[in-house]
Amino acid sequence: MEIITNLHWIKGLSSNIYLWEGEDGLVMVDSGRPGDADRITGYIESIGHDLTQLKGILITHADYDHAGAVAAIQERSGAIIYTGEQSAELLTTGKSPNHFPRVMQFLLDRFFHYPPLTKNSIRVVQDREAISDQSQWSIISSPGHSPDHHSFYSSFNSILFAGDALKSSDDRLQISSSRISSDPVELRESAVALLRLNPSVFACGHGPPVHGHSADMVMALARQLDG
Ligand SMILES: [Zn+2]
Repeated sequence: MEIITNLHWIKGLSSNIYLWEGEDGLVMVDSGRPGDADRITGYIESIGHDLTQLKGILITHADYDHAGAVAAIQERSGAIIYTGEQSAELLTTGKSPNHFPRVMQFLLDRFFHYPPLTKNSIRVVQDREAISDQSQWSIISSPGHSPDHHSFYSSFNSILFAGDALKSSDDRLQISSSRISSDPVELRESAVALLRLNPSVFACGHGPPVHGHSADMVMALARQLDG
């Protein structure tokens, strides 16, 4: 569904996928699980585009439920993948990063590989960089959920794609679970830094996007996490 003009939310099997309709084509953020590929393709067609108009895919981190369909969508579209250095490495092997409790991590590493990307489809991004072909989106390193995690922010559109640095539940922003984080202290620092951007739209990896909220609510959460 279209949340605000040009920003679409696709509810995947277990995580969110976002689409931005920019002047120079479509940009997608995260890709859901492997089984989400047809849902994404169908949605793009339903809003009057085809996959060749998808120019970039921003991947917040290489978890199975965020990177699962990226290879299928990349193959159908030819889009360039933007992600961090460690995530890029994992995307070429189809493995999720290390940040789950032991048994869960073991099962994931053993049974939940996703189709890998080829190296030449990926552009590695750095903190504070603006994405070269999609200049309105800048990169913010936001580790803690996983060791390599990036959020994507447009000050012009006042939209933040937070990935799993934040989540939402019952229309409220929350920090994501420390139980499945690689570093709870980093997770909190990343969350505070993102909240302080105070965007109009928080598009998180899990839970409905948050918008039309009060800035006070966001700042109160930032203060609470910072204290
Ligand atoms: Zn997730």
